[in-house]
Amino acid sequence: MFQKELKTFIALIGTNSNEQQWGNILLNLMGPIGRNIHNTFTFDSPNDKENINILIQKFDEYYIFSGKKKLPLENVYEYINELELMIKEKNITNGEELIRKKILTEINKHQFTNTANNLLPTFIFSSDFNKLTLKEIAFIWKLYTDSDICTRCDGIHSPEKCSALGKQCSKCNNWNHFSRKCPTNYINNCDYCGGNHIYKKCPAFNEICTKCQKKNHFKWKCQSIQILQCRFCGLSHAANRSLCSAKYNICSNCNIMGHVPSRCNKRFLANRLQNVS
Ligand SMILES: [Zn+2]
Ligand SMILES: [Zn+2]
Ligand SMILES: [Zn+2]
Ligand SMILES: [Zn+2]
Ligand SMILES: [Zn+2]
Ligand SMILES: [Zn+2]
Repeated sequence: MFQKELKTFIALIGTNSNEQQWGNILLNLMGPIGRNIHNTFTFDSPNDKENINILIQKFDEYYIFSGKKKLPLENVYEYINELELMIKEKNITNGEELIRKKILTEINKHQFTNTANNLLPTFIFSSDFNKLTLKEIAFIWKLYTDSDICTRCDGIHSPEKCSALGKQCSKCNNWNHFSRKCPTNYINNCDYCGGNHIYKKCPAFNEICTKCQKKNHFKWKCQSIQILQCRFCGLSHAANRSLCSAKYNICSNCNIMGHVPSRCNKRFLANRLQNVS
């Protein structure tokens, strides 16, 4: 790809001194089409606008995802599904990492953190974002973008302008909601994902929990008991022997499998014998 060649070229000249200048040269070389694409980018800092490394990353991302961005009413899960399909079509291997980076350019970190803190009180964006699965990210993103969406009609409007007002639901015969939003079809505060959704449409379905490695729930709904200082590995993990990192470890102290040397019983025995002699 053109950008890659340019990067090699810059590396060959061996200059890191002026990333700004190289950014300008890149934009000039790309001509009006490149500059039009450049106009659609958003930057964390005005200084990034002409930074060659940031531009190359942005143009790469633009190429991979064809400049797609989530639309205000677009469903987050469907949007991420589409990004995954785009990655698949282009046979890209580090797809998940690219999708995470792309999501990072689109979410509001402040709103995301506030929402995440309701589920995970200790959540800190810089250290915990990358520990979330894509589905968990989507769930939190959806939670704060959906707060404006009307629970009766799926639209965004001022309170009195609901298009479901005066409509009778064909499912429960009650008034003022569409049948697709009928409360009889809805699960509130789901035990597996923590959200509200149509019965049998849990976003945590088939998801593997990063805490206990069991299926069908998000980590903030994990019921597994945590071992704080495992007597085999010394670390904290869910109470499941198969999650213990020392399970197949051969102890260098006693040559028995299943624990780390610092948790070896024989060491104390050896020490005691030494003290006696
Ligand atoms: Zn409405
Ligand atoms: Zn109803
Ligand atoms: Zn659920
Ligand atoms: Zn779990
Ligand atoms: Zn362990
Ligand atoms: Zn041992």
